[in-house]
Amino acid sequence: MSLGLNLDRRSLSVLGATGSVGSSTLDLVRRSRDQWHIVALTAHANVDALARLAREFQPEVAVIADERYLPQLRDALAGTGIETASGPGALIEAAARGADVTLAAIVGCAGLAPTMAAIEQGGVIALANKEALVSAGQVMTAAVHRHGATLLPVDSEHNAIFQCLAGSDLADVRWITLTASGGPFRDWSWERLAAATPAEAVRHPNWSMGAKISVDSATMFNKGLELIEAHHLFPVGLDKLRIIVHPQSIVHSMVEYRDGSTLAQLGPSDMRVPIASALAWPRRMDTPCDPLDLATIGELTFRQPDEERFPATRIAREAAQAGGAIPAVLNAANEIAVAAFLDGQIAFTQIAAHVADVLAAYAPPPPTCLSDILDIDGEARIRARLLTEGA
Ligand code: NAD
Ligand code: MG
Repeated sequence: MSLGLNLDRRSLSVLGATGSVGSSTLDLVRRSRDQWHIVALTAHANVDALARLAREFQPEVAVIADERYLPQLRDALAGTGIETASGPGALIEAAARGADVTLAAIVGCAGLAPTMAAIEQGGVIALANKEALVSAGQVMTAAVHRHGATLLPVDSEHNAIFQCLAGSDLADVRWITLTASGGPFRDWSWERLAAATPAEAVRHPNWSMGAKISVDSATMFNKGLELIEAHHLFPVGLDKLRIIVHPQSIVHSMVEYRDGSTLAQLGPSDMRVPIASALAWPRRMDTPCDPLDLATIGELTFRQPDEERFPATRIAREAAQAGGAIPAVLNAANEIAVAAFLDGQIAFTQIAAHVADVLAAYAPPPPTCLSDILDIDGEARIRARLLTEGA
């Protein structure tokens, strides 16, 4: 496959450079420094980390989303020749500079508008920011087609599926199975779940990740969002998408074909593997990850998800079936509920309850453009906040 890309030296923007995925990305870039020209690095409020990364990677522009930190960023980068900017508009402008590869690693729907701006430039979009695709759905996939962009999944499950599909005809697919670790609470009783603390929820057994996705893994909303993400990336039909709990997080997902062959992608629980796959695509690159030692791991086990204790995957499947605006409502309500849980405002088990309540009361018509989605997202957030504040 040829994109006309120069695989020896490419330009790269990292949206969400200071986060878990952003840091893993830049760790790989650091090891192959001469192959990359950095266009933009962005962050929300961690100005010290952004300035440090900008000094190291010499991007054209460094953007801090929170405007209060612009003077600090300017001071820190004075004399470097690196442009500085702040605010949501500057994030979009930075993404719209275009790069051969844009790593979309902002967390939440906050990453949607910048990701859409990158898509409009038609390069490779390496997508970690699943909430953007969940919220925008067909509006995003249509923009990808319209602008000739290439959407490569970085989420480990979707990257695994992408690799297992390897260009196959989707008509030959019998099942796509997303694996889920089950999160830190997979064996907890309902009573124990109700008393789970934020500190316990962010302590994931296998993966080291940002706080929001860690809570999503604990509720299983992460897998629910991933089901919707897979529905858009690999349109085989929702009835062919399944979820299985695999506590070891070694098999990252599977594709079963009509002839009975199942292809799986295996690897360590290290995001640098799927990130490297997207960065180097259609080639491969080295990573510092330890080789997979299956004899030491010993056992790979699988079990059905329990939707009684973890209703998130059922709620997400229903939202995907409803389609249109509903996944954006689900995502926004979940973002607010997770933030409220992390703030100690609501109990762990109230996260799914609040999301279900917002979905029951708010069903706007399907969005047709980005501003529709942002309006729906904003309204769903207001409704979710009313619930969490009244909790
Ligand atoms: P994180 O919280 O560690 O980092 C998020 C990044 O986004 C930071 O750079 C932060 O500064 C920036 N950011 C946050 N809010 C912002 C805002 N309002 N405006 C602009 N920038 C903002 O998150 P993460 O764990 O790296 O996850 C990033 C995305 O990747 C999420 O969508 C997550 O679901 C997805 N993802 C993460 C992992 C993982 O292992 N961490 C795995 C798969 C997918
Ligand atoms: Mg994942």
